[in-house]
Amino acid sequence: MCIFCDIIDHKIPSSVVYEDDHTLAILDISQVTRGHTIVMPKKHCANILEADEETVQQVTMAAKKVAALLAEKTGCAGINLLNNCGEAAGQTVNHLHVHVIPRYGEADALEIHFKPSENVDLNEVLAQLK
Ligand code: 5GP
Ligand code: ZN
Repeated sequence: MCIFCDIIDHKIPSSVVYEDDHTLAILDISQVTRGHTIVMPKKHCANILEADEETVQQVTMAAKKVAALLAEKTGCAGINLLNNCGEAAGQTVNHLHVHVIPRYGEADALEIHFKPSENVDLNEVLAQLK
């Protein structure tokens, strides 16, 4: 059972922002900012690592279109595109989706901070990744 597949199949109602043959974008039920939208493929895949390239391209292009729509309609000052992949990264629904989150200012109920790690040897990290 997948809640997003049920939404795609119209078994659960949703607020559709954008739809094409391969993707659906709906308002997130929990609006972190006004217009917060989630973009998903109609084909079920658990996350970006499991998705095939074509599906990733379709979702990415749909997210771009949704970002443009939100920018135009909300007058937001910026937009975050966010994909949580895996429970440790905050993924709660195991159907690939991209959050498109309009940003208005410091009062937004979302903070993204990069807290730098100390004493990281980039060469060592790179060696691990090669
Ligand atoms: P995740 O934490 O997996 O990246 O994001 C899942 C998102 O799906 C959450 O932001 C949550 O609010 C949203 N969500 C969960 N269930 C529903 C639902 O039934 N309808 C809608 N529109 N959003 C949902
Ligand atoms: Zn699904």
